[in-house]
Amino acid sequence: MICSRCIYSDKIPAIIFNSSGICNYCIQIEELQLNYGTGLDKGFSSWKAILEDIKKAGKGKKYDCVVGVSGGTDSSYILMKSCDWGLRPLAVHYDNTWNSAVATENIRKLTSALNVDLYTHVINNKEHDAIKLAYVKSGVQEFDTDTDLAFVQVLRKAASQYNVKFILEGHSFIEEGISPANNNYFDGGYIQDIVKKFGNIRFKTYPHLSFFQFLKWTIIYRQKFIRPLWYLDYSKKKAQEELKDRTGWTNYSGHHLENRASAFAHTIWIPQRYNTDYRILTLAAKARNGEISREKALSLYDSPVVPDPELVSYVKKRLKLTDTEYTDILNGPKRTWREFKTYKKRFEILRPLFFILAKANLVPMSFYSKYCFQLKDTE
Ligand SMILES: [Zn+2]
Repeated sequence: MICSRCIYSDKIPAIIFNSSGICNYCIQIEELQLNYGTGLDKGFSSWKAILEDIKKAGKGKKYDCVVGVSGGTDSSYILMKSCDWGLRPLAVHYDNTWNSAVATENIRKLTSALNVDLYTHVINNKEHDAIKLAYVKSGVQEFDTDTDLAFVQVLRKAASQYNVKFILEGHSFIEEGISPANNNYFDGGYIQDIVKKFGNIRFKTYPHLSFFQFLKWTIIYRQKFIRPLWYLDYSKKKAQEELKDRTGWTNYSGHHLENRASAFAHTIWIPQRYNTDYRILTLAAKARNGEISREKALSLYDSPVVPDPELVSYVKKRLKLTDTEYTDILNGPKRTWREFKTYKKRFEILRPLFFILAKANLVPMSFYSKYCFQLKDTE
């Protein structure tokens, strides 16, 4: 059975269909839209109130907010709009040294056209490659989660350095959808255990987000992550045109492909080893919001994932793997996060604290519902 609105099927864990054949994920999106008033007057007035709070908190400081930039559409758009909204943003980038040339160029064009300061943390490239080698050896699915978490740590660190309370993110549930329940999980403890067991690495330049660091940022520094696109009307296509016109920004083909590590995760590692194709998230979202037809989305999803032909040789070179070693790794044993040390139990024990923090918008509600409860094994 396939949802009558998007393209999620009964193969997706924890999916339920209502009497009209619409899946629970589409219903969740509908509820979010209603609660946030996305793209409507309600959303706009909530957003205006938040904007006032950001400006008030930024009075007398060099910057009002921190905006994370990757070179991709959504984050670039938020940086450009934050200038239009009269904010004084600090652009923040985590460079894992696997950036595509387009992404690096985009960040440069954007910050210079908007005249915004850029704060970059660059990891030592050898340290990063050693982390990546440990990941592939460990055989876990979450290949590029070290980058996601490092980015959070760098954003929070930059915010604390400039005494900024608000961190703006480019996420849009209309354009990206909600991830279906799955077996993925990650936190700083998990990453640390992978690299310890499979790489014997101690972090030197990797921005590690430890459990206590996380508590410090949320409780003492009270930093807030804000997603403007949850309130406002947003179209990725229009955003790309505006970015091109105003800053010379260029598009690259595909979501998550601005960085070679995330490209490897999404086009090789996860589809080939785990038979999972995350294109379903954006394709379902596009069918749901009417950007493309369901039939078109289904046929695109049916087409094979085609990796950039140069990507494999790039990965082999960076990780110093021979052809045989690479093949062995790709066919090696699979492990899950449950076989590693994580902070999961601590999050569960501190559930009441995280409920209060989520209510105060200091951690996302999605963090509370995923990290603070026992996860069912969906396989
Ligand atoms: Zn659906």
